[in-house]
Amino acid sequence: MKVVPEAFFRRNEANQIHRMSSIIQLLPDHVANQIAAGEVVQRPASVVKELLENAVDAGATDIKLIIKDAGKSLVQVIDNGKGMSVTDSRLCFERHATSKIRLAEDLFSLSTKGFRGEALASIAAIAHVEMKTRQDQEELGTQLVIEGSKFIAQDVAVLPKGTSFSVKNLFFNIPARRNFLKSDTVEHRHILDEFQRVALAHPNIHFTMYHNGSEMFNLPQSNFRQRIVNIFSGKTNEKLVPIQESTEIVGIQGFVSKPEFAKKNRGEQFFFVNDRFIKSGYLHHAIMAAYEGLLKDGSQPSYFIYLNVPPNTIDINIHPTKTEIKFDDEHALYAILRSSVKHSLGQFNVAPVLDFDRDSNLDTPYGYEGKEASMPIIQVDANFNPFGNPEPSLAKSYSGGSSYSSSGNSGNSFSSYKKQEPSSWESLYVGLKQDTETITQIEDIEFESEEVTGSLFNDKEIEEVVHRTYQIHKKYIVSPIKSGMVIIDQQRAHQRVLYEQFLTNMTVHQASSQQLLFPLNLYFSSTEINLITELQLSLINTGFVFEEINDDSVVISGLPVNVTESEVSILLEQLLSDLQDGIPESSFSQNDSIAKSMAKSLAVKTGTYLTEKEQENLVNGLFACKEPNVSPFHKPTFITMRVEDLDKKFAV
Ligand code: ADP
Ligand code: MG
Repeated sequence: MKVVPEAFFRRNEANQIHRMSSIIQLLPDHVANQIAAGEVVQRPASVVKELLENAVDAGATDIKLIIKDAGKSLVQVIDNGKGMSVTDSRLCFERHATSKIRLAEDLFSLSTKGFRGEALASIAAIAHVEMKTRQDQEELGTQLVIEGSKFIAQDVAVLPKGTSFSVKNLFFNIPARRNFLKSDTVEHRHILDEFQRVALAHPNIHFTMYHNGSEMFNLPQSNFRQRIVNIFSGKTNEKLVPIQESTEIVGIQGFVSKPEFAKKNRGEQFFFVNDRFIKSGYLHHAIMAAYEGLLKDGSQPSYFIYLNVPPNTIDINIHPTKTEIKFDDEHALYAILRSSVKHSLGQFNVAPVLDFDRDSNLDTPYGYEGKEASMPIIQVDANFNPFGNPEPSLAKSYSGGSSYSSSGNSGNSFSSYKKQEPSSWESLYVGLKQDTETITQIEDIEFESEEVTGSLFNDKEIEEVVHRTYQIHKKYIVSPIKSGMVIIDQQRAHQRVLYEQFLTNMTVHQASSQQLLFPLNLYFSSTEINLITELQLSLINTGFVFEEINDDSVVISGLPVNVTESEVSILLEQLLSDLQDGIPESSFSQNDSIAKSMAKSLAVKTGTYLTEKEQENLVNGLFACKEPNVSPFHKPTFITMRVEDLDKKFAV
């Protein structure tokens, strides 16, 4: 421990008084709520999700969702659930006020959707809320108005049983957030997603949805299959293959689509864990692995998978909007899911038939065909057998790729399937090591491509090495030069480099593009779609590959080499907003605007740490530009300081 010398205190006595005046304060509730709202409420769809989930938690059997202007002017949810008492109807708007858990331990036995007790407080902080609620046993109910966390009115009223929440003028007191909202089409799409997720998870509840006065869905109480069909049209029925599995650690039911109905986009893929919609790239991979060899290039199966796991084996709390879950035993889950999907596809005679059509290209990810170094990596699981070899028959039917490809296997091989007894669990782990390796390899590939594209300049390494460079404040790069030193603004410099690169690629039509493993489906408003259509040619010249341009979405199967998948939607949104005021007439200025916008989106930002190599590349790249001294937006990219200037400063 460091001993502070007495002299220190004496020296600092003068400061004592100043130091004693404390400056920390607790934030007033309405401010705290507004801050929390930033996490909970991103857009109208977040309100839809929270209100629907509350209605489900309240035990409702009938839930109505009413939307106006994509939720921007109204989101209303009416339920016939248990309602609230007078006291509760005020308390529910307090932060951390919940009826769903009492003790920390309760978190491990959750059976409700909500538990954080912050949704209503957050919503009430940033909107005009009107609530009406009555408990079954009471004759009269409570009606309450709250605006920006302020209680405006509270009355006793004659009301139907249950609760109705109207949320109007979302973000009325945070104009920045309101302006940030997307077009009605986009916001409406998000709302539909949330509605469908809740409706799919609860087929035993009657849901209706209205938008601007017209009925969009009317979903009677039913079972899972009917619910799916009611949401996604009658044609869906013939596409579905049921999945059923029950083991100690997980119960699985649901449906996957027959491979011949696979789609180009990832629209209809749903996982539910204990009735809660979740996203999981890992489990998605398990399903894709089950379809191995059955799907045409880049196509996507639909799936609706309902998992039931003991609540104490999951952690829902890792994401504020709770769509991600942590499982205790993810590896086992992966293996079980994969084998049960595979089993069903086999049982329904889907697998062996298609097996003969197997396209050998499927063994190689498209973007990497012909790229020597990565070729062998994707022989995914030729030897993989999740069950070791406990019984020959089992081993045969589950030996994945190898059993498929080794000459015409008949459909019967699947009839030898036996359910795994808990006692043979160990065998599941036998294959896991390989399994995880497979996955790591795939990640490696993606990573590798990111490295290539994400590095500052993927042109050949520039040989000529500048003298040492130093990055300061993650903002400037300083490098000594003959006359003194140069200070470069990293963001502007990178903008310049990318801008010239894009412009060259577009004008000489030499852009290369990287193919995506899974085409991306992005939603846009009709105005945005029009813009994209007009810009299509120029965008293709940068390296974009459009598979489809629909009324409200585009499917992208290839990206410019400098662009990663995670960047693309931001990039396009930026581009569309940059070009909102009209597309330039001449193709040159069209290219110019696109190159500018893309350079702006993709350039390393202030605050990004750069390795020495990256700094060097940036400096070299900048000075290789035609116009290195200004950014595409005419801001200086660097300044120099001569030794004499420094001398002068020291001369004082
Ligand atoms: P959480 O759902 O995490 O508990 P909320 O802020 O969403 O937090 O809701 C707070 C409380 O208000 C809930 O715990 C519940 O007791 C009550 N509540 C909310 N919505 C309803 C509803 N539709 N019907 C009955 N009670 C409700
Ligand atoms: Mg809630």
